[in-house]
Amino acid sequence: MGVFKNIFIALSNNKYLNDAAKQVGPRMGANKVVAGNTIPQLIETIEYLNENKISVTVDNLGEFVTTQKESQKAKEEILEIMEAINQYNVDAHMSVKLSLLGSNFDLDLAYQNLREILLKANEYDNMHINIDTEKYDSLQQIVEVLDKLKGEFKNVGTVIQGYLYDAEKLIDKYPNLRLRLVKGAYKEDETIAYQTKEDIDANYIKIIEKRLLNAKNFTSVATHDHEIISHVKQFMKENHIEKDQMEFQMLYGFRSDLAQSIANEGYHFTVYVPYGDDWFAYFMRRLAERPQNLSLAVKEFATPETLKKAGLFSAIVLGSASILGLISKYIRK
Ligand SMILES: Cc1cc2nc3c(=O)[nH]c(=O)nc-3n(C[C@H](O)[C@H](O)[C@H](O)COP(=O)(O)OP(=O)(O)OC[C@H]3O[C@@H](n4cnc5c(N)ncnc54)[C@H](O)[C@@H]3O)c2cc1C
Repeated sequence: MGVFKNIFIALSNNKYLNDAAKQVGPRMGANKVVAGNTIPQLIETIEYLNENKISVTVDNLGEFVTTQKESQKAKEEILEIMEAINQYNVDAHMSVKLSLLGSNFDLDLAYQNLREILLKANEYDNMHINIDTEKYDSLQQIVEVLDKLKGEFKNVGTVIQGYLYDAEKLIDKYPNLRLRLVKGAYKEDETIAYQTKEDIDANYIKIIEKRLLNAKNFTSVATHDHEIISHVKQFMKENHIEKDQMEFQMLYGFRSDLAQSIANEGYHFTVYVPYGDDWFAYFMRRLAERPQNLSLAVKEFATPETLKKAGLFSAIVLGSASILGLISKYIRK
């Protein structure tokens, strides 16, 4: 299955496709996993989830930020979402990526942008701001920025990727920060990260257990893996860990029934809701993780309505559709 993963990761990194996709809004099934591209659509999604006892973390989608102007725009969009969350009084916080704030070309600019976001978050009842983790080569930047901010702000945290050999060291480094624990979404080589599902799961469970036993702040266990979720619930019971110390998280549009049943059992639950025009790379990364989601995309590609849309994108859609259609034949359901 590695070859499919590589193809989708390559598509996610293609700036031309990403730019073209922006013109037409979430398509190809992405509208099932992205909460639209207007504030009213976003707020409606959050309200629906809140009514079902589910909290939200919003991700303002964005890729390929290479200028100060683009990073400024991304920051303004994040501030606008925060203002709406506050104004509509919904239960939500933000997940942000340093790359969106300019870290790929100016780390200090990204730091200043993030600091501005955190200052505003303080005005909104200390809204939590999570720094999502990206490729390993940017991890040191997150550590640097966090170490500068953690004394000044209590509402900042990050994500630890269980596939990294360094994951346990990071868990030990940040007992006082709110942390989200994930398996890890990017392609890393064997000098940096575990490669097999067995090894990744084993390390993921190891860091979750260590964190839950030693944490001095809230922990988010973010996975769609029912076996890991069951294991964590059992571990908590055996070790008398209160439900209030943690939550489970999933991505919007994935395993909603399971999410709802966990929330109904009285666990805190947060759904990660991507929002905005820059949906293509996010959606390709989700297909890389689970190519079965492709059935959504192929179905939508085939409708005449999709093909009638903007000429440029239609051409891309047709090209991509044939590639994806071909791939889908080889995917076991
Ligand atoms: C809320 C959230 C935030 C995240 N933030 C980050 C981040 O900042 N940085 C980062 O690198 N990664 C992040 N990720 C992605 C994460 O690292 C994984 O790539 C992603 O969650 C896939 O791994 P998994 O743990 O869900 O389980 P997988 O290993 O993908 O799945 C394990 C098993 O669960 C079952 N399963 C999984 N999905 C489904 C489904 N849709 N339907 C039915 N069964 C299913 C299958 O049996 C599968 O074999 C985040 C994930 C979540 C949920």
